[in-house]
Amino acid sequence: MNKGVKMVRDIMLTKCPACRQESMFAARAVDLAHSLKMHRHCPHCGQDFIPEPGFYFGAMYFSYAINVALMVTFGVGVEVLFSPERIWITLASIFVPTLLLSPWNFRISRAIMLYTMGGVKRR
Ligand SMILES: [Zn+2]
Repeated sequence: MNKGVKMVRDIMLTKCPACRQESMFAARAVDLAHSLKMHRHCPHCGQDFIPEPGFYFGAMYFSYAINVALMVTFGVGVEVLFSPERIWITLASIFVPTLLLSPWNFRISRAIMLYTMGGVKRR
């Protein structure tokens, strides 16, 4: 598998950027009560997941970009495929998937932030 494809896969699976063995998060995304809880260090290699205080503030920019992509995809997709006559159907098709995917978005945004700005080298 291509190195870039592997990195995208590991970001989507929120794997540790150093060892790619363990998840950055303590629970799965579907466990809504605990899905946002991150490990402080990698349970496998000890990589620090919080390089500096406030490091993940920048993840909101990735989150914003993912949200816009999701909203455009679902909004345009429903308009093109179904051409609904009522505006609330279009609005629901935009906001409901975005809301349902928000835990995933949160996790992926943090993973992108750590992979791109964290200065972590692959071991
Ligand atoms: Zn690790």
